[in-house]
Amino acid sequence: MLGHTAVHKEIMLRSQKAETYKEYDKTPDKYLPPIKTFAELNLDNRTAAGIKDVGFISPTDIQSMALPYTLGEFDLIGQAQTGTGKTAAFLITIFEKLLKTEKKSPTLPRALIIAPTRELAVQIEKEARDIGTHTGLTYTAVFGGVDYKKQADRLKAGVDIVVGTPGRLIDYMKQDILKTKGIEVLVIDEADRLLDMGFIRDLRFMLKRLPKYSTRQTMLFSATINFRVIEATYQYMKIPVEVSATPESVTVDEVSQTLYHVEKRKKFRLLLGLVQKSDAERLLIFSNTKSGVTMIEERLTENGIKAFALTGDIPQRKRLKIIERFMGGEIKIVIATDVASRGLHIEDVGYVINYDLPQNPEDYVHRIGRTARAGKRGTAISIASEDDVYYLEPIEKLIDGKLPFVVADDDDLGKKLDEPIRKKSVSGKKSREGRRRSGRKRRG
Ligand code: ADP
Ligand code: MG
Repeated sequence: MLGHTAVHKEIMLRSQKAETYKEYDKTPDKYLPPIKTFAELNLDNRTAAGIKDVGFISPTDIQSMALPYTLGEFDLIGQAQTGTGKTAAFLITIFEKLLKTEKKSPTLPRALIIAPTRELAVQIEKEARDIGTHTGLTYTAVFGGVDYKKQADRLKAGVDIVVGTPGRLIDYMKQDILKTKGIEVLVIDEADRLLDMGFIRDLRFMLKRLPKYSTRQTMLFSATINFRVIEATYQYMKIPVEVSATPESVTVDEVSQTLYHVEKRKKFRLLLGLVQKSDAERLLIFSNTKSGVTMIEERLTENGIKAFALTGDIPQRKRLKIIERFMGGEIKIVIATDVASRGLHIEDVGYVINYDLPQNPEDYVHRIGRTARAGKRGTAISIASEDDVYYLEPIEKLIDGKLPFVVADDDDLGKKLDEPIRKKSVSGKKSREGRRRSGRKRRG
């Protein structure tokens, strides 16, 4: 596994590039809610008919989360377990894109799907034929071992969509049998497996040979998304949206969760106490609103604690920089809204504090899912005042369990830096000075 530093260099490179490419600004700052039905997508009749033919009634989780972005032509990293319908997610996207735009050449392939194994390539081509029956688009699968000439002839004759495994694809690319200059959509399927199987150099070779990433749409799908996957592909994609459809209950089990009940007026003091006592390497604080995030940032700063706000109005590339520094250990505390943290790769944070309980229970699961990934345990602390308790029930229903709770007492509250100054009393100054210092001191 690559060290984080290598990854951060790549991401840095990319965000520097971002300054010069307008395409990056296409990254949505807005959260696009998941669809509930295929009908919401207003698909081309030919695509819709294919979906009906194969008997898909409603979209799977990954489809409903990814399609709003991919049909908007954003680059995407999609994570979901095997068997959850990732194939149809990218196929529908490809069909819609190719049906919408005019073919520029009769023979150049317009979409390329890279898959790790022959079985998978065959399966994807079959699903493309099934869902794509009414599209009039043409498909072929290329893979090693057999039919060298047959597959080559098919490519020469001209197909719209090529699915293939790295070895054979590269072979045909080198011989210019597979021409890549017309590629409008690229899919890297099962990216984690591609890397596990040692295809990293092959993948790079192909990515370098394709038209510039800024001129095409790139989608990457994988059962697991880790730094290795991102590191290998980031510089060949526009800033991607990341969607994840892991059954989060699995993740939730890995997180130690606590709920603090506190009066509304003592909320910040409690947060301060938690921050002051925390020895976490990284601390991610969530608030429901942008104004909440800004308030927390200001008040932490007043109390001598450096923290960075991550709100939806901050441009994506700047957010990316903050996250990059956060993951790299340069920044210890980030305060975010749910919207701002979406589409950013924040994982393995270790310690999350919910300053408010989210109004949408799924957001709770997403937030705490940032703590523990890949089997590691994380800590999530939520603060609930009289305003928040209303949202507790839906959360407990979703996670199918009660959150262990603590009623905050004075020891849990933080020591404010500005207290003695505000009080301006002369007597007892010494002892307050002591408090002030201990208030400033932070472990971790
Ligand atoms: P993944 O790539 O995520 O491992 P697949 O794309 O191969 O999974 O999908 C697994 C199975 O689910 C396939 O048989 C596929 O036809 C089916 N499937 C995909 N989307 C839907 C849907 N919306 N409704 C019902 N079945 C679906
Ligand atoms: Mg798949």
